This record gives sequence, structure tokens and C-alpha cells, in this order.
Amino acid sequence: MFESITNSLEAVLGKFRGKGRLTEGNIKDGLHEVRLALLEADVNYKVVKNFIKQVTERSVGEEVIKSVAPGQQVVKIVHDELIKLMGESDTSIPFKEGGQTVVMLVGLQGSGKTTTAGKLARLMLSKGKKPLLAAADIQRPAAVEQLKTLGRQLDIQVYFEKDLPPTKICSEAIKYAKENGHDVVILDTAGRLHIDNELMLELREIKDTLTPDQIYFVCDAMTGQDAVNSAREFDEQLGFDGVILSKLDGDTRGGAALSIRAVTGKPIKFVGIGEKLDRLEEFHPDRMASRILG
Ligand code: GDP
Repeated sequence: MFESITNSLEAVLGKFRGKGRLTEGNIKDGLHEVRLALLEADVNYKVVKNFIKQVTERSVGEEVIKSVAPGQQVVKIVHDELIKLMGESDTSIPFKEGGQTVVMLVGLQGSGKTTTAGKLARLMLSKGKKPLLAAADIQRPAAVEQLKTLGRQLDIQVYFEKDLPPTKICSEAIKYAKENGHDVVILDTAGRLHIDNELMLELREIKDTLTPDQIYFVCDAMTGQDAVNSAREFDEQLGFDGVILSKLDGDTRGGAALSIRAVTGKPIKFVGIGEKLDRLEEFHPDRMASRILG
């Protein structure tokens, strides 16, 4: 995870660390290399611009240049600003006191939605909840079977009703949950290869009819800025409460993880770090920054 960005930042920051004295000139040169490393890691260019501005403002001050270990100070500033970029960690799922908490998962096809639905259900089970999975992705023929298989592995019920439209499947699932003592319902909705009107109409209808308590946007970290752009579009057209970044285990660059919060203002709640059902972690910006900076 993050090998490529870690290696390139290590090379640049290593030069800082080794220096006993720094001038404004070498700080700016070094930060120019940091800028290139971040752009290569597919971090959103506006985010990079702002990031470098913040780091530069803090680094070229007298306090840093005259300090005993100025290079270390700059590295620390880069670390702090990376954490700020990703915002406060926010991994809470607000569960309702009574009744059913409805969590709707949205995202493009192949982003990892169905797998994430299983992972989230497993997590909720471990918190003492009794989740119900609703198979409302009737766009991708294999999705329903896939969710049923995950349900069997976890011993969690999966609601599906053949021949019903997605909104109706979801509302019937919520009704079933009420009648059968499930306190959480996870809706696995359809995606498409690209954002289109049909998809948005379908998702908006589910959202408007059922007013889910939480909507999470699932996206594939390996797609870098494409993931960030689709997050922005989904947020503008539908709105969501948080992001679940899947496939972080295969992401060598970190561009999506570093940009999504700054671009959408929405927190990354969880990250997927493998295909198996136990490979879901809470997202903590400080740990991510430390991982990247080694
Ligand atoms: P959906 O179309 O959005 O429902 O996507 P799927 O849940 O079917 O996932 C697409 C592919 O990504 C599958 O092969 C999953 O096993 C894989 N996948 C999902 N999450 C992760 C993850 O966190 N890490 C890895 N390595 N693979 C994942």
C-alpha cells in the first residue's frame, strides 16, 4: 500500500532530514519536489497547490530556519499538513436508538459496493447489531447471488424479491426488518460503469422514498482522481454522508485517499484492504500520514 508515494516522498524528505542548515531557497526547492511527488501520486492538483502553500508558509519562517534541526521541522510540518488535508477522523455510524438504521451504499459498478455491504454487515454484527442486507442491485446480474453468498458466509439474512423495482425491494426489506427484529438495513444499490441519468434517477428515488439514515459512497482507491471526480459528482447530484474507499491494499499512490475529503468535504469512514470480509478498517488520517511518510 502506498509504495510509490512513500518512496518518492522518502527520497525528497530524506534530503531535508540530512541538512543541518536550510535557507528559504532550499526549502522552496525541496517543496517543489514534494509537489511533483504528490502530483505523480495522482492527488488533485488544487489540493496539491493549497497543500504546498500551507507547508511553505509554515516552513520558511525564522523559527524553522533557525531551529536546531530545521529539516526535521519541515518533515513534521509536511506530516501535520497531510493529516489536516484528510480532516478529523470520523468513523462513527450513527445508529438509531429504536427502530431501523438504514444505510444506503452507492457507487459505480465494480467499485466494491457488494463486497463492502458484506464487510459492513460483518462489522455491525460484531457491534451486537442484527443487520439485514437488501439486494437492490438488479443492474448487475451476479450482484444478487454474490450478496446472498456473502450473507450465507456471515449467517446474515439477505432480502431480495424478484420482479420488483429497486425502490420497492428496499422498502419491502425495511418492512421485513421491522417485522423480524433487524435493527440495521444495508441497501446494496446498483451502479453503472459511468455516472448517468438513469442511475441518478434510480438512486434519488430510493433516497427520497426511504430517507436512509446514512448514505456512503463506495469508490475504488486504485482509480485515483477518477474516484475523486465521481465522488464529487455523486455528492452534487445525490449527496452522501461519508466515503468508503475500497481496494486501498492495491493502491500504491494514495491520490484518492489524500484528496477526497478536501474535494468533497465528506469524511472517509472506512477503507477496504482486501477482498475478504474481515478486510475493512476504520480510516484514521494520522495513521495514513505516518504510513506514507514511513
Ligand atoms: P460492485 O460492482 O460495486 O458491487 O463491486 P464488487 O463488490 O463486486 O467488487 C468488485 C471487485 O473488487 C471484486 O472482485 C471484489 O472482490 C474486489 N474488491 C472489493 N473490495 C476490495 C478491497 O478492499 N480490496 C481488494 N483487493 N479487492 C476488493
